[in-house]
Amino acid sequence: MTRSALCRSRRIVIKVGTSLLAPPERPIQARRFSALAREIAALREAQLEPILVSSGAVGLGLRRLGRSQRPRTIPEKQAAAAVGQIDLCQRFQKALGRFDLKVGQILLTHIGLAQRERFLNARHTIQQLVRAGVVPIINENDSVATEELRFGDNDHLSALVTNLAGADLLILLTDIDGLYDRHPKQPGARPIRELSSVTPELIRQVSDSTSLVGTGGMRSKLAAARTAAHFGATTVIANGRQKDVISRILAGEPLGTCVQPQPTSGQISARKHWIAYSLKPRGTLHLDAGAARALVERGRSLLPIGIVSLEGQFGVGDLVRCCSPQNIEIARGLISYTAAEVERIKGQKSPRIATLLGYTNGPEIIHRDDLVLLRDEG
Ligand code: GLU
Repeated sequence: MTRSALCRSRRIVIKVGTSLLAPPERPIQARRFSALAREIAALREAQLEPILVSSGAVGLGLRRLGRSQRPRTIPEKQAAAAVGQIDLCQRFQKALGRFDLKVGQILLTHIGLAQRERFLNARHTIQQLVRAGVVPIINENDSVATEELRFGDNDHLSALVTNLAGADLLILLTDIDGLYDRHPKQPGARPIRELSSVTPELIRQVSDSTSLVGTGGMRSKLAAARTAAHFGATTVIANGRQKDVISRILAGEPLGTCVQPQPTSGQISARKHWIAYSLKPRGTLHLDAGAARALVERGRSLLPIGIVSLEGQFGVGDLVRCCSPQNIEIARGLISYTAAEVERIKGQKSPRIATLLGYTNGPEIIHRDDLVLLRDEG
């Protein structure tokens, strides 16, 4: 979607960072809640469907508990989130209530969304809320999610919600004005307004190079934009401190950085998006050049003969990465054999599976229906 076409977006996921609502060592930004509510109300008024992914539970909770420093232990953080999440929703409810709007809270965990049934349940709930004119407010369920079960950050969560909700636009509001060609504080730093795609190379550069230095979590924002683009959504990363930022983005003003969706040929279905991004990979398969080509160029299933080596302890149905001989992740998918079984059948022709194992789950290690290519088109 070009900038001028952003006004055609219907369902919009808006992610707001802690830095905008409850920045460390600064007062709670009460006026920002009101400003966001005014913008969200205007979207509803225009028959659009805003969905909010908001951080800030931990930050608000700490203040309620009278603590000034970020907690060091996970239980302390979880307790702060449990207290702050109530405050967060109350503040949005109060601010949106002035426009006669209701909010509905949804707290998600990674482990929950990794189960297809719960993923679909969450989708139905969001759709029902939107239909009923309610503004969903989504956050990670911080008070129960331990490290292993976490999404990691709300940027990633908001990209998953974009798929979950079938949204066409993701707006990531942060405290800097999108991506720059060098550190924004360096002289001559210029904003990058348009990106046709976010490649893994760009994400790597932003994390550690001197030319594209990430601030304000730009790396996770670009990764989220890449995830959303794969599903066919446009992402705009913008400074949430700017006045009327959302309506100005929708009016096509060149604010922040706009990341284009993949061309239709590179987009994947909602189910494949769930496979690739909602699940956590449990292992890696290293493929030979022939197998890598068969996957990428011919859209084939992965057979045991193309597997050179493997890492990780995975079971049947787990998500695994598939890497080319250059060690680039080219695909990921749900595997039909355990790690111990793949160790025994790797490099072999499929008809040998039954002889080697005494049984077979089929000739494919990963069936093409369960395989997602991670290529960049366009
Ligand atoms: N869920 C956390 C919170 O509400 C924030 C996570 C993030 O900002 O990425 O405080």
